[in-house]
Amino acid sequence: MTRQFVLVGNGPASLAAAEAIRLCDAQAEITILGDEPHAFYSRPGLAYYLAGHIPQSQLYSRPDEEYRRIGARRQTAKAVGLQPLEHRLLLQDGRSLSYDTVLLAVGARAVRPKVTGIDLQGVVTLDTLEDARRIVALARRARRAVVVGGGITALELAEGLAARGVETHYLLRRDRYWANVLDRDESELVEAHLEEEGIRLHYNTQLTEILGRRGRVVGVDLAPEGKIACDIVAVAIGIEPRLELAKAAGLQVRRGIVVDPHLAASADGVFAAGDVAEVFDPDTGEYVLDSLWWLAIEQGKAAGSNMAGPRRAYRKGTPFNVTRIGGLTTTVLGCVGQPTPDEDLVGIARGDSESWRRQPDAASVEADDDSSRLRVLVGRQHILGGVVMGNQRASRPLQDLISNRVDVTAVRDRLLSNREGLFPVIEETWAAWKRGGRVL
Ligand SMILES: Cc1cc2nc3c(=O)[nH]c(=O)nc-3n(C[C@H](O)[C@H](O)[C@H](O)COP(=O)(O)OP(=O)(O)OC[C@H]3O[C@@H](n4cnc5c(N)ncnc54)[C@H](O)[C@@H]3O)c2cc1C
Repeated sequence: MTRQFVLVGNGPASLAAAEAIRLCDAQAEITILGDEPHAFYSRPGLAYYLAGHIPQSQLYSRPDEEYRRIGARRQTAKAVGLQPLEHRLLLQDGRSLSYDTVLLAVGARAVRPKVTGIDLQGVVTLDTLEDARRIVALARRARRAVVVGGGITALELAEGLAARGVETHYLLRRDRYWANVLDRDESELVEAHLEEEGIRLHYNTQLTEILGRRGRVVGVDLAPEGKIACDIVAVAIGIEPRLELAKAAGLQVRRGIVVDPHLAASADGVFAAGDVAEVFDPDTGEYVLDSLWWLAIEQGKAAGSNMAGPRRAYRKGTPFNVTRIGGLTTTVLGCVGQPTPDEDLVGIARGDSESWRRQPDAASVEADDDSSRLRVLVGRQHILGGVVMGNQRASRPLQDLISNRVDVTAVRDRLLSNREGLFPVIEETWAAWKRGGRVL
């Protein structure tokens, strides 16, 4: 009998799952559903599109031939119901699909703050290509924008709007940017870059109301500053997994869909992966949410293999992201921050991980020059986290040393003393590990 696999979501987790299913089962019927009217596109690429660095056409990273190569059918349709006992998925257009196994890879959406005026035209979030196109269109006519929120997405919005010639004001509820992931020096480095880009930072400032006229944004009321006129209010206070389908189907959910070590959800024949899934993190010993492209691919791959082949436990890798924040290429890896909430964010943002908000039992060592900064968290035996801003030569070595839990006991004192500089010791340690030798 031909097995039916239905993958809900047309993002990286689903595509990776489809490829993995095909490797296990040459005959299977694979259907991928997406509720956006677009071919597969890069969500991280939206920031570059918004800033005008790439055209829309460059976002389409997996053309339709790839679906044909995999042998998967892509349909534009919204799933509105899941009946796990009947193994049936209900679609908004009235159809239903029966499945042997279904993957929920429906991603996450931006959280909207409960503030007066949030539904006015001109209030924007950045989840989808349609959102990015709307912002580009609004920016053509706008003179001033106010950005609210934290993490990477708020900066992408601020920098994108500024790059399009809109006078941009970025509100921070406290005295620095991304306080539970970056240390103070790193925040200041980002803030200095934003100011160089002409973005005006408002510290210790809260949005109390969005002001409108005839359904459109005309300004904001801020505490303590009072009113300022603007045409756009861009909101990036965090994301929440899309849980409607899972909740209505009675699956176990907390902040995301809870999955077991095989990425199976709590009903027979249902799996979840990517931004929507709450997955066990061996580094922190907790179930966490991530919003990382490569992790969505990893999880999609693991879920697809388990859906179609023999089951193998998935071990989540050390979360990392290499991206641009405040004009600086930045890598964040492992446990680097602290659990105290960042008041600019509800939970995590895009390109972000809950695992980063852990203060490990480790010593922090830093090295700076004019425009770069390296911070490494050194535990008793292992390097547990790192932040690399600007010069990226330490990024790859740290990724390998952290994710492979390389024993650095032999060089720990040299790292901590920082006498030779951090990078040379990291590079030497990495080279020794790559040679397969012990780190001496
Ligand atoms: C602006 C932006 C910047 C980002 N920057 C980074 C970065 O720097 N680094 C990084 O690693 N990650 C970044 N990310 C996050 C990254 O894109 C996500 O982690 C990744 O896309 C998650 O993949 P996914 O497959 O789980 O879900 P998604 O890619 O979100 O895909 C979900 C899919 O499900 C579909 N869907 C939802 N509900 C339904 C339904 N009911 N029926 C049918 N289809 C449905 C959606 O249309 C979509 O196709 C960024 C994301 C955004 C938006």
